[in-house]
Order: sequence, then C-alpha cells, then structure tokens
Amino acid sequence: MNKLHFDDESYLSAMQRRTNVLNHIHWDGSIPADDLWRFYQDNRKKLFLLEKYIDGTRVEGDREIKSADELRSFQTNLFTKYDIVSVFSIPVGAMQTEEDIKAMAVAHCRYLRSQRTVYAESRFAPWYHTQQGLSIDQVIGYALEGFSQSWEEEGVKVKPIICINREVDSEEAKKIVRAALNFSERGVVGIDLACYEPPFPPEKFKEAYALTFDSPLKRTVHADEMCPEEEGIRNLTTAIDDLRADGISHAIHLWKHPKLIEKMREKEIRLESNPISNLTCSFIRDIAELHLDLLIKQGVKVTINSDDPAMWSNGDLAHNLYAVGKLYGNNFVDMVIRNGVETAWGLAEDEKKQFLENIGM
Ligand SMILES: [Zn+2]
Repeated sequence: MNKLHFDDESYLSAMQRRTNVLNHIHWDGSIPADDLWRFYQDNRKKLFLLEKYIDGTRVEGDREIKSADELRSFQTNLFTKYDIVSVFSIPVGAMQTEEDIKAMAVAHCRYLRSQRTVYAESRFAPWYHTQQGLSIDQVIGYALEGFSQSWEEEGVKVKPIICINREVDSEEAKKIVRAALNFSERGVVGIDLACYEPPFPPEKFKEAYALTFDSPLKRTVHADEMCPEEEGIRNLTTAIDDLRADGISHAIHLWKHPKLIEKMREKEIRLESNPISNLTCSFIRDIAELHLDLLIKQGVKVTINSDDPAMWSNGDLAHNLYAVGKLYGNNFVDMVIRNGVETAWGLAEDEKKQFLENIGM
C-alpha cells in the first residue's frame, strides 16, 4: 500500500482542477472498476478471486467478487495481495470483441474527462486482446474507432501507443510493430516495450524497434523500473543507444548517472515518470527517491503520469501532482504539465501553443 496521505484537501482539489495531458497511461489499467463491474454484470459473467494469494496462502471462504467495491479492492491490491496476471485479466477480459473494445475506449475517455485530461497517449498491448480471435490489426483498428468516437462524445483526444508485451518472442514483437506501423497514418503515435522487465531486457527487441527507425512512429521503453540498479541502468542504456528511445518510462535510478542524464537532455528524450505507481509497487520507498527536482534542474524533460490509475488507491494524476507538488512546489507542477504538452507526440505545434495558452502558460 502506498504511504501517502492526501490530508490537505484544498491542495488536492487545486490539483484536481488542473487541466492536463497524460503521456503515459495504460488503457487496461485505467478502466474504472464501476465500468468493469457493469460489463461483467451485463454479460452475466461471474468474477472470482484465484485460489491463492500472491504469497501462496489459500484464499478462504467464498471467492466470488460480488460488487464493484470488491472488484476495486481486488484491483488496488495488485502486487500486495494479488499477482499482475490475474488482476489485469479482468479489464483485458472485457476488451476482446469489436463492440467491447469500442465500449472500453469510451469508458477510458470518460475517465480521462473526469480527470480534466484533454489529451492522452494511452497505451495498450494488442496481443492481449486477441483471445477471442481478433487479429492484432483488428484490435488496433477498433481501438482507434472507439477513441475517435470518444473524441466526439467526450472531447478527449487519445493518440495510442502500441506496446510490445515483452514476454513475446522477437518474431511476434516484429509483428506487433508492423501492425503499429500500419496505423501510423491513422493516429498511432508510437511503440513501447512494457510488462515484466527483469527476465526480458530491451536488447531482445532491437530488431523490432529498428523497423520504426525510418517511420513517423516514436519509441518509448519501460526501463529501469523493476530491476536492481545495475541491471536497470543497463536496460536504460540499451533503450537509449540501441532502441533509440524518444521516451523512457520510470528510470528510477537515472538521477545517480550523470552521463545518462546528459544523453537524455541532448537527445531530448522525455522522461515519463509515474511516482505513485513506483511507490505502490514498492520499487521505491519514497517519491523523493526519484530526485525528479534534480533531473528537471539538469534539463531532463520530466513528465508526471498515472500509469495504471485503476490499480492504485489514490493514484489519479491529481494525486501524483499532489505528491510532487508537496515535495517541490507549484512551479515544479507547472513545469511538468508544460513538459507533457511540449513533448506530446500527437499534438501539432499550434495545438500545443493553443493548449498552453488555454491553461495560462
Ligand atoms: Zn507503464
């Protein structure tokens, strides 16, 4: 559980009133429990806890999940009580057909609007959405249709990033990237390497990433999130040097490595930081450990994001901004919101300017 307290209510509501953009949010990790609960109720599908908790002890009593609140509690105990596969299987299970994918795109955008997010680079791994026979191209195509429908209905612009779920082999990874390339003209803005980092280092995906080198797609990589420092820094270096990353997610130990900081600055690589995610997953003990102030002072384009907000209790973007705002002040909050806009991959220069003007920057 995260150890943050949000007892300054007026500060929290000030953060909740900030219009914002998100450079790093997972579609499946951000569908509110109420929407998922309704989906499973409507489809008359029951949800159950697994037989065992993550630590191997047996789940006693009735394992059926019987309300949206119970579902929320299940999801927000990711990694502390329940494993990642069983937790994510619930949202992913609700995104397997054309109709459901479109409905969940709308649910995602409704959530974003409730957070005053006007633009998001929402990411997802299409491979997980092929369990009932859709092809990867179909998944991406339906998602794009759903997002453009939401643009009309909710006024939130979503430009997807396609994730390689890193447990796939390199041939499968290339297929995913080719599918992303097929949709680069229709709204997909980038590719990402996501999911469980330790056994699947980025060098395995060099060839897949290379397919995008002469394309309009941007590249981001989850790196230095879940590994010990030495390994994490090695992954970060590979992501920058070999995968030619334009964005890096997490980079927990970056602050200690001046040469990498210099590279991030020189190559204008944006840092997609997700403080509450890191804290809740126990990859850090305190948000100050990320030294984001130091990174920003050294010219790194730090952005603040919510990652999988449906999986954290108090993990919306506003909570993340609250946490960094309390540490580093309002100028820091202004700066990270500005960085999010300036480094957005799916906004034209005039849209960025307009957006910054609209929020008084
Ligand atoms: Zn992420």
